[in-house]
Amino acid sequence: MEITEQKQTLLLTEREEDIQKAAAILKKGGLVVFPTETVYGLGGSAENREAVDGIFRAKGRPSDNPLIVHIADIGDAERYAYPSPLFYTLAERFMPGPLTVILPKKDILPDNVTGGLDTVALRMPSNETARRLIATAGVGIAAPSANISGRPSTTSFRYVKEDMQGRVDAIIDGGDCAIGLESTVIRVDGGTITLLRPGKITVEELSAFADRVEVDKAVYRLLSDGEKPLAPGMKYKHYAPKAQVILLEGSEEAIAAFFAAHAGDARVGILCFDEDLPLEGAKVLTLGRCDDRDAHARRLFTALRDFDTMDVDTVYARLPEKSGLGLALYNRMTKAAGFAILQV
Ligand code: AMP
Ligand code: MG
Repeated sequence: MEITEQKQTLLLTEREEDIQKAAAILKKGGLVVFPTETVYGLGGSAENREAVDGIFRAKGRPSDNPLIVHIADIGDAERYAYPSPLFYTLAERFMPGPLTVILPKKDILPDNVTGGLDTVALRMPSNETARRLIATAGVGIAAPSANISGRPSTTSFRYVKEDMQGRVDAIIDGGDCAIGLESTVIRVDGGTITLLRPGKITVEELSAFADRVEVDKAVYRLLSDGEKPLAPGMKYKHYAPKAQVILLEGSEEAIAAFFAAHAGDARVGILCFDEDLPLEGAKVLTLGRCDDRDAHARRLFTALRDFDTMDVDTVYARLPEKSGLGLALYNRMTKAAGFAILQV
């Protein structure tokens, strides 16, 4: 899918008059990129079929990969879906926030929003600008991450402009995203929660609210031919920078030695922790202190994009642990690496 039309993109601030302008664009069926606490979103009216088609075109997204519908108020869930009791329990604890829940959809949504599925993904962002924009537009906003399909999601104004300027009607500058990884996506069936995409809200936190939390297999590994993912997006190539990412698994000493041995190579990038520094001569980016997973989440996508500008063929990084927020990092990094893992 190539874009044919080059648009004039308004660059807006988070001030009230700019939110009004952006909301007016959305009401007329236009496209607005806006900040959220997770990543930037590429928004259009969820009730407008043409606007939704425009979203898929602007990012080159396959049409069977459904969008998340963003709402400003829990009361709006019933406009688009049939919420269950567990949905309201989870909403009370986690919304607004980085949790997306899949529910049976209502007919008011055109079927391109949900890629033809009879379910819709709903989220209420905690970012104030996002919620003000949705409330002012007076309609649910369908939005995927605001990146060209296949590339790392955008979490800063600089990179969102790089991908989206010329493809949308407006971009709101909201600075850097507070969380930096996309929302946790879950399905709820009776008392069971199925995790389709890990995020800031962890399996451990969700477990308190369900009889059982199942983790879909696509979270951990590449599906083989014929296996059907529960979240259609998980079958597509994702988050990939230009260089080949290779994830290292082994003892701390072995990984430190591996970094040191490869640091001198001008074609190699190293994505490490503050504790690994200094690494002589290397093209190095750090995700923050070893024990600061929130920092790792905040920096990951920007770091992957930064390596694109550093002229490297290979990026070495640690394979994250799978507990807590680590599972979301594990999921994004294994996908960015195409599951290339090296034992050291
Ligand atoms: P993004 O728009 O980039 O944040 O991706 C949204 C994710 O939610 C993708 O992985 C989609 O496949 C997934 N998703 C959206 N709607 C549904 C749905 N109705 N059922 C299952 N997964 C969904
Ligand atoms: Mg995305």
